Amino acid sequence: MLASDYLDYDRRATALCLAGAVVPDLVDKTVWRLGLAETGHTLAHSVVTVAVVAVVVTAVDAARPFRPVFPGYAAHVAADVGVAYPRFVVNYAWPILEQRPTPDVSPVGYWMRYAVSAPGVAEAAIVVAGVGLVARRRVGDSDDGADSRG
Ligand SMILES: [Zn+2]
Repeated sequence: MLASDYLDYDRRATALCLAGAVVPDLVDKTVWRLGLAETGHTLAHSVVTVAVVAVVVTAVDAARPFRPVFPGYAAHVAADVGVAYPRFVVNYAWPILEQRPTPDVSPVGYWMRYAVSAPGVAEAAIVVAGVGLVARRRVGDSDDGADSRG
């Protein structure tokens, strides 16, 4: 949402940008939970995949309508790298670097520790800023609707 707001996207482009922002977790968390990968940050969170997607949406004519997907997608991966525990940053360079499995502890305990850590607080602040932008846009849209009726 922050990327979409910065790029001044219309509704369609914003929807594509938001879709791109959820793809990494949708793909990798599913693959991880199905036991097909060691971590929740592999294929879709890889900077290699980000580079490939950038080339595809830039160079392939048929993919150009989907260009707004890229800022959301890349922003998600960049934000995850920014708040990743240092020992797990290597997971974002898959398949160039070997994966480091996330700690073998209960997911609830792991995420509770993450939520109160500096990266967790930073991520929460980004989410709050994004929600604030969505709320601001909705208020702006309501105002636009009122203006067109009057
Ligand atoms: Zn992610």
